[in-house]
Amino acid sequence: MVNPREAAAAVVDPEIRVITIDELGILRSVETDPATGRVVVTITPTYTGCPAMDVIRADVRRALAAAGHPDAEVRTVYSPAWSTDWISDSGRAKLSAAGIAPPAPVARPNVVPLTLAVRCPRCGSPETEQVSRFGSTACKALWRCRSCSEPFDHLKAL
Ligand SMILES: [Zn+2]
Repeated sequence: MVNPREAAAAVVDPEIRVITIDELGILRSVETDPATGRVVVTITPTYTGCPAMDVIRADVRRALAAAGHPDAEVRTVYSPAWSTDWISDSGRAKLSAAGIAPPAPVARPNVVPLTLAVRCPRCGSPETEQVSRFGSTACKALWRCRSCSEPFDHLKAL
């Protein structure tokens, strides 16, 4: 049997296929219920109503079944709410390499909010503009670089 934590952590995000749900920070816990022996996976959705969550739940169940845990349960928790701050450093590097601008850290309460430039993932220029609030999926916004005129997806900061 494959370690259930490793099996669940290896599931890739169905929309951003370069990053795993563990790197994205939506995999909260993988535990074995001591009474039943069932594996219980807890995930937190990224964006409310993101249709990818149904796919992720199915993918996690499939990965655990392949790892020898066919009766795994996937629970969804909404609190505390997922934030783009939960994306790991390696996840941010992979997003950037895939041409998706990683979100800037979100300003916290009692911290003066800063408007951080969204840098072009291709040429690194901060001269960018939002073209549309919705990119290739509802979870991403479409931006364009004014330096190299290339459009790119920007994962919305939450
Ligand atoms: Zn550019």
